[in-house]
Amino acid sequence: NTSLELQPLMDILVDPNERQGYAWIRMRISRMWSRWTDAAKSLMSKYSFRNRPKKKILVHLGLLSKQSGWKFAEMQFKGGPLGELVQWSDLISTLYILGHDLTVTSEVEQLLEILNHVPAARTPCQSRKELPVQIIYTDIMGLIQFKKRLKAGYAKFSCLFRVLDSFGTEPAFNHRMFAKQNKILTSWGGQDLNLQQFYTMFPHSPDNSFMGFVVDRILNDTEKSSEPKRDIALVYGKNDYMWEGKRSYLDAIHARFEVHGTVYKDANKKLVNVPNYVVNHGILSGLDLHELLQKTKVFVGLGFPYEGPAPLEAIANGAVFLNPQFSPPHSSKNTKFFKGKPTQREITSQHPYAEVFIGKPYVYTIHVNNMTEVDQALDAIVQQTNFSSYVPYEYTEEGMLQRMNAYIENQNFCLHQEYRGRKWPPAESVTNIIGEAGKSCRDACWDIRKICEPGHFAELNTEQAFANLTSCSSHTKSSNIYYPAVEVSKMACTRQLEPKLFSCVGSMHALRRLCPCRDFIPGQTALCVGCD
Ligand code: UDP
Repeated sequence: NTSLELQPLMDILVDPNERQGYAWIRMRISRMWSRWTDAAKSLMSKYSFRNRPKKKILVHLGLLSKQSGWKFAEMQFKGGPLGELVQWSDLISTLYILGHDLTVTSEVEQLLEILNHVPAARTPCQSRKELPVQIIYTDIMGLIQFKKRLKAGYAKFSCLFRVLDSFGTEPAFNHRMFAKQNKILTSWGGQDLNLQQFYTMFPHSPDNSFMGFVVDRILNDTEKSSEPKRDIALVYGKNDYMWEGKRSYLDAIHARFEVHGTVYKDANKKLVNVPNYVVNHGILSGLDLHELLQKTKVFVGLGFPYEGPAPLEAIANGAVFLNPQFSPPHSSKNTKFFKGKPTQREITSQHPYAEVFIGKPYVYTIHVNNMTEVDQALDAIVQQTNFSSYVPYEYTEEGMLQRMNAYIENQNFCLHQEYRGRKWPPAESVTNIIGEAGKSCRDACWDIRKICEPGHFAELNTEQAFANLTSCSSHTKSSNIYYPAVEVSKMACTRQLEPKLFSCVGSMHALRRLCPCRDFIPGQTALCVGCD
C-alpha cells in the first residue's frame, strides 16, 4: 500500500491558475523521484508497511496563495526563498509514497470548495468522523485562512492541523492568554494548538515535532564523485544584499580559491556588493547547482539566510561549509529577522544544526570578522586532500519516510491523552531526571544524550514524582513555562497548573527542572528506540 508511480502525483499537482505556483515543486519531485522510490523499497524490506489505514490528507500551501501577498510563486526562479518549497515538495512526496489519499490546494477558493462539504456540527466527536479530511498540513498563513473561513467551525478542525513552521513555536508564545499577559503576543503566535502540531525544519525545539526535509544530492551515499575537486569556493548568497560588508572575508577566500556565486541579477540593476572577481552563475537549476557543488571545495556562508537547506546539500556533495559564528547569538532580542517570531531561541551561528550535529571536518564554525580565524580555517581546507560527503540519516528520503510514517500512525491530537490507549512515545523510552539549576529540559536531557519529550511532562507533575527525584519543603502550583521545578534555596516544589505551558525550553537561574528525557534512534532524533 505505497504509491511509487510519479504521473498520478503530477496530476495532483496541477496549478490552480496561471501563476505556476507548483512549478519548482514539480521539478524537485521529478528530479528526485528515483531516489524516493528506492528509499521506499528499502524501507519496505525492513518493516511491514501493511495494516496502515489510508488517510485522507489535505495539504494547503498558504504561502503560495495570492492572498498571502508574499510572491513565493512569482519569485521561485528569481532568487526568492526556496527552503520552504523544498520542505513542501518533500512532504508531498512522502505523503503520496506512503499511500495516502492526497489533495493539494494553495488558493482560498479551492479550500472553500473542500470545506463546503463539511456537514453541520453536532457533537465535536461525531462531526469529526464526518469531516472530509483526517489530517491537514498547512503553514501559519494557511491556518489563518482556515480560521477566517471556518469561523465557529474551526474548533472541530483544529486538532487535525500540522503546521509547517521552520523556526518553531515555543509554549509561551502559543498560549494566547499567557502571551497576551506577558506582552509577547505576535501575529505568528497565539494559535493555542498542541505544541507538537508545529512541524519544524531542524530538530531544534523538542516542544515541536521535527519534520525536516531531504538533502538533495546527485550521488548515491556510497558513490564517490567522478568529478575531481577544484580550487573553487562557492558563496552561499542568492541576493546582492547578503554580500554587504563581507569584503575582507571574501578577499581572504579569493587569495586561495576561485570564487563563484549564484546571485540573482535583475536585468536593470547592478550588483553592488558582489566583487568583480566572482564568477556569477545566476540562479541555477537544482542539477546544475549540484554539479557545481561536486567541484567545489568550500561553501561559504555569509551569515544569512539562517538555517537553510543549501549547506547540507554542499556537505552532501563533499564541500566543507564555512559557518559564520554569532557572538552574541542572534535572536528576537537583537535581530530584525526574528522579531515577531514565536520563539526566544538564540542561534549561535548561521547554521546551528551544521555546527552542533555535524561539525568538523565537514563544518568550520568561525568568526568571519576575525581574519586570523578565517585564515586558519582556509589554510586547513587548502591542505585537505580528501573531501568526503555526509548526509545525516534523518535528512535522507528513507529517514523522512520513516519519521513521517511514525507521526501519521501515532500522533493523535484529537483525543485526550487518557483516551488514546497506548501512549506514544511509550513510557519505556523515557527517563525522568532533575536538571541542574538554571538549565532548560532541552539542555539537561541533551547533557545525557537524550531528547526532552514534552508528551511525558504530565507524569512528572505529581507530588509522588517530586518525591522520587528530590525532597520538597513545600508544594505549590503555578502557570508558567518553568514548571514542574524545584527552587534550590528553599527546596520549594512547584507543579504546572496549565498543561499547555509544559515546556522543554523554559529555564530560570534558581530552578532545577523536572524533565522527561527520551532515547532516540542514532541518526533519527525524532524517534525513540523502537518507535519506528
Ligand atoms: N537553489 C537552487 N538554485 C540556486 C541556489 C539555490 O536551486 O541557484 C536551491 C538549493 O539547492 C536549496 C534551495 O534552493 O535546495 C534553498 O536554498 P537556501 O538554503 O538558500 O534556502 P532559502 O534561503 O532559499 O530558504
